[in-house]
Amino acid sequence: MNDLTGMTPEELRDFSTELGEKSFRGGQIFSWIHQHGSESFTDMTTLSKELRRKLESKATLQAPEVIDVTESGETASRKFLFRLTDGMKIESVFLPDGKRRTVCLSSQVGCPLDCKFCATAKMGLFRNLTSGEIVGQLLAVGREIGKRITNVVFMGMGEPMLNYDNVIKAASIIHHPEGLNIGSRKITISTVGMANRIRQYADEGHPFKLALSLNAADDVLRDRLMPINTKHNLEACISALDHYSERTGKRFTVEYVLMAGTNDRPEDATRLAGILKRLDCKLNLIPYNPISGEPFKRPNRDQLKRFYELIYSAKRTVTVRWSQGKDINAACGQLHAENQRKNFRKVKSKSIGSQ
Ligand code: SF4
Repeated sequence: MNDLTGMTPEELRDFSTELGEKSFRGGQIFSWIHQHGSESFTDMTTLSKELRRKLESKATLQAPEVIDVTESGETASRKFLFRLTDGMKIESVFLPDGKRRTVCLSSQVGCPLDCKFCATAKMGLFRNLTSGEIVGQLLAVGREIGKRITNVVFMGMGEPMLNYDNVIKAASIIHHPEGLNIGSRKITISTVGMANRIRQYADEGHPFKLALSLNAADDVLRDRLMPINTKHNLEACISALDHYSERTGKRFTVEYVLMAGTNDRPEDATRLAGILKRLDCKLNLIPYNPISGEPFKRPNRDQLKRFYELIYSAKRTVTVRWSQGKDINAACGQLHAENQRKNFRKVKSKSIGSQ
């Protein structure tokens, strides 16, 4: 069965032709799914009954099923746990901030990269998500919230660049003017630093924003916190990001999750400042959301302020994102990890940086 949620308008036009219909029907189906949020073919009343019958027998709209929603007691952030058609579970987070309504999407079930501060890492990798499962998260959250989603970040479970084709396709669908029409500069793809993919992304000229999750400013600490660094080290990341700036002329974002006593020492700030001086980027400082059983600590406001002031002299464009939803475990993978471990065994674990 063809899952139509993950198809572009062009693919849906071809699919309509294969069904013996006029190609423009594909565009209508796309707008029913993405503009009207249709969950069934019977809703698509501009299509003939015969076409709707054909669609019922040859296609599906496999939206991930919402099985749990947790709302923050501190903010209006909400965490969504989804069940996929094969029973696997993933999560998305909705982060409202004034007029900005952001959804953080997952790109994989689990993750193979083993970042030491991350709950998703504990699961290993189960599989990549399809483009339909990625877009489906957004459609489902939009339906639950009942308001237009303005921003999308690929910062949920998984490393987006390890599911490159499906993530790019999903971003293109989300951005498409016949669908949700979310602006390309409102869609951010984040990576822990897959240097080869950053170069590919720059060379292919995709319009979406790019973010690097840095979290350590020297190779010794980064190797320890993020084992991907042993394959794509800091210099490789920086060189790939320079390439990105040269090819696109666009600024990117560096994310630095601040962990008290781990990567917030004065020497970390000095090294980070040195890296930032070389790059055309802005910096987001994100105080760590603690995970039970892990040794990493959230900095208090004084520790954060100290670090911020040391960095600010090197990089004026620093923002602090007090992570929303700390009380609902809104760090990537936490709610899901708790559920998944109870119900599934790990079936696959890819080697670092494979694909
Ligand atoms: S931080 Fe991201 S890349 Fe690292 S293990 Fe977690 S989900 Fe994977």
